[in-house]
Amino acid sequence: MTDLKLTTMTRWTIKDNVRSNFQKKACLDLMFKTFNPPERILMGPGPSDVNPRILGALGRPTIGHLDPAFLGLMDEVKDLLRYAFKTENELTIPISAPGSAGMEACFANLVEPGDKVIVCSNGVFGGRMHENARRAGGEVLLLEHEWGKPVNPERLEQALKKNPDVSLVAMVHAETSTGVRSDAKTLCEIAKRFGCLTVLDCVTSLAGVEVAMDDWKVDAAYSGSQKCLSCVPGLSPISFSDEAVRKFKNRKTPVNSWFLDMNLVTDYWAGEEKRSYHHTAPVNSVYALHEALLILKEEGLEQSWKRHLENHTLLRNFLEDLGFRFLVDEEYRLPQLNAVILPPSLNEAETRLSLLNDYNIEVGPGLGALAGKIWRIGLMGYASNKRNVMTCVTAIKEKLGSF
Ligand SMILES: *Cc1c(COP(=O)(O)O)cnc(C)c1O
Repeated sequence: MTDLKLTTMTRWTIKDNVRSNFQKKACLDLMFKTFNPPERILMGPGPSDVNPRILGALGRPTIGHLDPAFLGLMDEVKDLLRYAFKTENELTIPISAPGSAGMEACFANLVEPGDKVIVCSNGVFGGRMHENARRAGGEVLLLEHEWGKPVNPERLEQALKKNPDVSLVAMVHAETSTGVRSDAKTLCEIAKRFGCLTVLDCVTSLAGVEVAMDDWKVDAAYSGSQKCLSCVPGLSPISFSDEAVRKFKNRKTPVNSWFLDMNLVTDYWAGEEKRSYHHTAPVNSVYALHEALLILKEEGLEQSWKRHLENHTLLRNFLEDLGFRFLVDEEYRLPQLNAVILPPSLNEAETRLSLLNDYNIEVGPGLGALAGKIWRIGLMGYASNKRNVMTCVTAIKEKLGSF
């Protein structure tokens, strides 16, 4: 038994009456078996339901990451990502790690020690941007906003007037902690007028609402595979403008991360002649992302935004009838992330758990000061459909006893 490292949990599960080493070993052998996840309806802040076509792509045979066939796939993924971000940027690739790594890649590459940075924050993810910029050595001016409200362009303009030496401005487009959309176009235009680089978190916005990287003058944008792209979690599409590329190529200090150093990653994703080994791309996940982007292209970006809005409207009408109130003013609401204040007759945690247990529906709880007060109901990507809206509303009605 000494060579078998038992975790606390497995110790617990071994019954008291199993005494001999042989019996313990047999018991452990029985315990481990293939994991079959329950079939959930994912209506939280992500991951969202994955289209079966994408799961099919994920299960195709793994090939080498330097295989010429894989190279062709990488090029297509880059083109499809340019379509999704509405950009011509050469450097447009998926980082082999989740959305948080895309965030970290932006700050690690574009901020040098001593650089002055403005982070516009109105929720959890703005707070994380602040932390990333600070750890990259930036001197950060944090423009903190009330949760549930969008970033105020006038405040940004005033801060830039007062601090002409700021070189980078960062903000979250779709703040998943509160369901707010900020006016990224106006905010980036202001930042560019003051000669700053702009960084935009598009993790929840991409494919759910309009993102127009080039038109809006965004220098660095990142997203996540598992929100409105409805792919499996674990990849972070990013795109850098030529100006952003010049910034990291001309750094005085090396990027303080080897894995996320864009000088190295760029060569890995470069065309056939330049390609050099950096890390092993998660080959099957790249198949999945390719399929997800293909599905987006087939539907069309505009149609995808329209579908997200229609299903949000349907859900909103039902929920308001049932006594829910929206946290965010209509103008700034995200159709893919509905932050709603519960009617007083519903216990937040209890009802949320019973939706999961009785109906397999996952909705998200509130974070920070909003914990226990709101739900975050996601209608992202493949999960943004009429059937999910009706299933969710029916389940809530049952919990309210209104049948
Ligand atoms: C989910 C999310 C992230 C982080 O993405 P992970 O894939 O969980 O690392 C970052 N920003 C926003 C706005 C998000 O919604």
